[in-house]
Amino acid sequence: MSNRIRELSNLIKNSNRIIILTGAGISTDSGLPDFRSDNGFWKSNKPIYFNDFIKSEQSRILSWKRNIELNKLLEEINPNEGHRFVSKLLDLNEDNFLVTQNIDGLHQRVFKKNTNIIEIHGNATSAKCLECKKEYSLKIFHDAVRNDEPIPACHDCSGLIKVATISFGQPMNADDLSDARNLTAGCDLFLVLGSSLVVQPVASLPKIALENNAKLAIINNDETPYDGLADIVINEKINEVIAKINLD
Ligand SMILES: [Zn+2]
Repeated sequence: MSNRIRELSNLIKNSNRIIILTGAGISTDSGLPDFRSDNGFWKSNKPIYFNDFIKSEQSRILSWKRNIELNKLLEEINPNEGHRFVSKLLDLNEDNFLVTQNIDGLHQRVFKKNTNIIEIHGNATSAKCLECKKEYSLKIFHDAVRNDEPIPACHDCSGLIKVATISFGQPMNADDLSDARNLTAGCDLFLVLGSSLVVQPVASLPKIALENNAKLAIINNDETPYDGLADIVINEKINEVIAKINLD
C-alpha cells in the first residue's frame, strides 16, 4: 500500500484541479450508518417518494418526522479525519472542488476558507420551497410537526416546502449536475473517497474524468466498477489511508 500512497500524494501535489467525490463511506467513521446497509436506523426511516410527498399531507408529515429523527442523529455525531482531509484538499487550490453524495452536512462543519461544494443529493439540514427555491431553516417545520400544527407553506409563493434533499423520484438540480460534469471534464485528478460508484448520476463522473485524460484514484473499503480503470485503487478504510498521505 505504501507505494500507492506515495504515488497518490504526488498526484495530489502536482494537480491543478482536483475533483473530490465523497459518498457514504466517508461518514461511516462518524457513526452515520450507510443507508444501503441493513441498519435499523434506515429501516425505520425509509425514504418517502417525491410523488407521495406532493400528493399527500400524511406523507409530508411522515417525511418531516423522519427528518427530525435524522437531525437528532446528526447532532449527536461529529465530522471525522476524512472530512478534515477533504477540507485541506480544497484549501490547497481554489480550483479544487468537492462533489458529495452525502446529505449529512458533515463536510461543511469543518470547512475553513474554501466552500467549493456541490451536494448532488441535497442537504438534510435545511429546507427549500419546491416552487421558488427559497431556503428555510428546519425549526419552524419541526416545531409545527411536533405540535400537530399545519406545516407552513412558503411565505413568498405559498409553495410546498420540503427538506432540501433530492428524494427518490425527485428531479436532480440540473445546474448542480451540469456543474459537476463540467468541472470533472476539466480536472486532472478525480479522487473518490468512500463511494461505491454505483448510484447515478455520480457513477458516470469517473468516466468523464477518464475520457478527458484525468487520473482516477479510488479509496473505498469495497471494490467499485471503476477499479480496473483507475490509476490508483486502495480498498482500505479511508481514515487509515489518509493518515499516511503527505500533503507537505
Ligand atoms: Zn416559494
